[in-house]
Amino acid sequence: MRVNLLGLDAAGLAAFLGTRGEKPFRARQLMQWVHQRREDEFTRMTDLAKDLRAKLQQHAVVQAPAIVGDSTAADGTRKWLLKVDGANAVDAVFIPESARGTLCVSSQAGCVLDCAFCSTGKQGFNRNLTTAEIVGQLWLANRLLGGERPVTNVVLMGMGEPLLNLDNVVPALRLMLDDNAYGLSRRRVTVSTSGVIPGMDRLRDECPVALAVSLHAPDDALRNRLVPVNRKYPMRDLLKACERYLEKAPRDFITFEYVMLDGVNDGDAQARKLAGIAERVSCKFNLIPFNPFAQSGFERSPAERIRRFAEILQAKGVTVTTRKTRGDAIDAACGQLAGEVADRTRRSKTLRVVEARP
Ligand code: SAH
Ligand code: SF4
Repeated sequence: MRVNLLGLDAAGLAAFLGTRGEKPFRARQLMQWVHQRREDEFTRMTDLAKDLRAKLQQHAVVQAPAIVGDSTAADGTRKWLLKVDGANAVDAVFIPESARGTLCVSSQAGCVLDCAFCSTGKQGFNRNLTTAEIVGQLWLANRLLGGERPVTNVVLMGMGEPLLNLDNVVPALRLMLDDNAYGLSRRRVTVSTSGVIPGMDRLRDECPVALAVSLHAPDDALRNRLVPVNRKYPMRDLLKACERYLEKAPRDFITFEYVMLDGVNDGDAQARKLAGIAERVSCKFNLIPFNPFAQSGFERSPAERIRRFAEILQAKGVTVTTRKTRGDAIDAACGQLAGEVADRTRRSKTLRVVEARP
């Protein structure tokens, strides 16, 4: 079995070289070739010693997922469907803006958490992505987009719950931050979670980056319905976990994501309740107009309602942004990522674990 170098962070690469009788400092050079120069042919890594190249040829490979779909929306948003094995494909989405380019990366094939309004959740769950498959999305995007540094920001907001796959997500984050690889600052890498508390604590200790928490409701009664993981990790505990995270976070606020569902979570009273939450945790709100998909059973709140909701929060001193809906014509908007996920039975098994109260 050859090792995929896209999955090795600095420590992993040094160990890989060490066990093959190479000096660990070669790791730096090799990382630059792989991640910065986006080279997958060892023979072309001309400043590496010949015998090292031969060893790499024998024991290693640089292999990103295969592209099976590539579409670009009128607003420039580009979505790739990436095959990760014979049965599963995941989405990665590039969102160009004037001053930055954001890549939205998937962390799992499917998701067990089954939020009521999310198309990924409806696909069920098949498996965690490996570190190489997560980093491979960034490697590919940079390679395909070309230029010096097309991807300036990464958000783990694609398919899956990143904090349920930390064994693979943490080394991937380390590579994103490593100056010899992607060199992104911690503030430019954002992990989004539906509120998996033990994962928040672990991320804080192992690799704190910017954090977004998918709140979506002002109280447990509604959040239990919309985000079922709330039954295991209720809001009181979630807010405490946010405070703990802030002790080590690169930004001094948590971003609360809030999907705007017509007549469900978008009322004036609900906005006022959220303002109360904002008094307890340093945060910003990001309102996401709901992106519909077949049989979701929800509708997007009207623009006027979203504006009013934002106003109420702002009047209480809360910073609010409303996310522009981009890429929906190619199903690349938040919550529309469905990929192709095999074995839809696995979710029920894992969901039972999640729902079991401690
Ligand atoms: N599992 C993580 C990250 C992936 S989802 C999480 O839930 O945070 C990324 C964001 O898209 C989350 O805030 C999620 O709630 C939101 N989202 C899911 N479905 C959506 C939809 N149909 N319309 C708009 N946003 C949606
Ligand atoms: Fe999973 Fe996030 Fe979708 Fe919920 S919103 S089902 S946690 S991907």
